[in-house]
Amino acid sequence: MHNDMKPATPSHTGDSQLIANRFDFGRWRLSLGFVGAWLAVWALGLLVEYTSHASVWFPAAGMTFAGLLVVGSRVIPHIMLCAVISTIWTDYQYQLNLPPGELLAAGLVFGVTHITPYYLGARLLRYLANHRSLQLYHLIISFLLIAALSSLLTVFAVLQGLILTDMMPAEDLASTWFPFWIGDMAGVLVMSPLFISLLTRIYPTPKFWVGDLYSFAREHATNRFGYKLALNSVLLLATLILASVVRTQESAFAVFFLIVPQMWITYTESPVRTAISVALGSFLIALGVNLFGLMDYVMVYQFAISVIAASAFFGLSVPTLIADNQQLRKRVLEDALTGAASRHMLLNQSAIELQRCVRSRQPFSLIVLDIDNFKTINDQFGHVIGDKALISVCDTVRTSLRATDTIGRFGGDEFVILLPATPLQGAIETAERIRADVLRLRLKAGLKISCSFGVAEAKPEDDFATLFNRADKNLYLAKSRGRNQVASV
Ligand code: GH3
Ligand code: MG
Repeated sequence: MHNDMKPATPSHTGDSQLIANRFDFGRWRLSLGFVGAWLAVWALGLLVEYTSHASVWFPAAGMTFAGLLVVGSRVIPHIMLCAVISTIWTDYQYQLNLPPGELLAAGLVFGVTHITPYYLGARLLRYLANHRSLQLYHLIISFLLIAALSSLLTVFAVLQGLILTDMMPAEDLASTWFPFWIGDMAGVLVMSPLFISLLTRIYPTPKFWVGDLYSFAREHATNRFGYKLALNSVLLLATLILASVVRTQESAFAVFFLIVPQMWITYTESPVRTAISVALGSFLIALGVNLFGLMDYVMVYQFAISVIAASAFFGLSVPTLIADNQQLRKRVLEDALTGAASRHMLLNQSAIELQRCVRSRQPFSLIVLDIDNFKTINDQFGHVIGDKALISVCDTVRTSLRATDTIGRFGGDEFVILLPATPLQGAIETAERIRADVLRLRLKAGLKISCSFGVAEAKPEDDFATLFNRADKNLYLAKSRGRNQVASV
């Protein structure tokens, strides 16, 4: 275990800005920064305390969980220091006047009881996150469950500690544990994703899921986030004002409608922005409960904070799944180098066109194109130029095609072109046009590219294999006749 908070050397150096920032921070500044941030969010919780030892939500729990998750056990001494400082403050706040020795012991007991369950929960989540096979939504569910369970464990441990150190009377346990738990759970659920995303900027944890979310965030950011956040806050304030005027439990429940604008943000903005919006919303709720004197309905608001956060974070898996799906779809249907249809797509498309041509009695032709002496191009000019030649040939073909035509890469330097509603003569003309266009390509001095073409028109009994074989035989003929020509027997 290291005793300082120097970030661990990342095994992945994808983000140079991140790495540069990392070295700008001094060790002590990082430590001080963490302790300061922990105490600041702890004070924020204090601000919205509605009864002894119970806040509407306890964001310090989120900070502890995020620190243990991202930075690891190195952060424990810092949280211990925070625990002692916050205990001294609590002693002062409640005028408990414990002697210094007992006060220190109380602080340490609070530290141990507060840290241990979150440490175990964070270790478990870290272990799960490192399992590459785990899907994002599995991790999110794990996070939600671990947040709920570790905060429950913490609550019992901390309350026992408070009783043990005479900071709280034993008879208060029954009435305190539940609101205390909901407050802690809300703190972890709502705040830790935001703290995690902030901490991962300083401590890059490449294997960790929030890292993935972070890069996903860059792709999906819009410039309307500010408006959405403002609208969310205005609606939130409206529900709080409504409850403070009407003063019935039913009116307090209106806060649950905020799930709708929150899900709007979740589905249309980045995960980091979802975390920001959830954190801000929960802070406004906690503050509003205090400002508008809605303590009677505090449970409703505590549940609302947790339910909105859990839904929002679970909802994160939806846009991520959609993005993953789109990427996979593209990979299956498109050739990565040239952007031409993949072989799989080509087979599907030709099956559709063959059926259509039988049904509508329209002609359908197929061209097989192969670059001449491509091996020599690769050998003389290198593979990079070889790749560029493939891309250029493909682009040239595309400019000669109609919107309904398809070009696909069959493999290596061989392309297949599907020409619906085109008779053999039309296909030959198209092939000739492409042949002439390719000859005009000038990729590099001394490099002349030419192609050979085999053309065939579909017969009613054809499937892809028989049609392709006829065109391929013609290609062979074009090659054997000296290349750079079109054959269509
Ligand atoms: P021919 O005129 O008879 O077609 O001669 P050729 O040299 O073009 O022979 P062939 O079509 O068999 O050669 C295909 C070569 O294409 C072999 C392989 O090294 C190369 N190749 C296949 N895929 C790629 C690729 O993605 N990039 C590059 N640069 N070369 C590729
Ligand atoms: Mg070839």
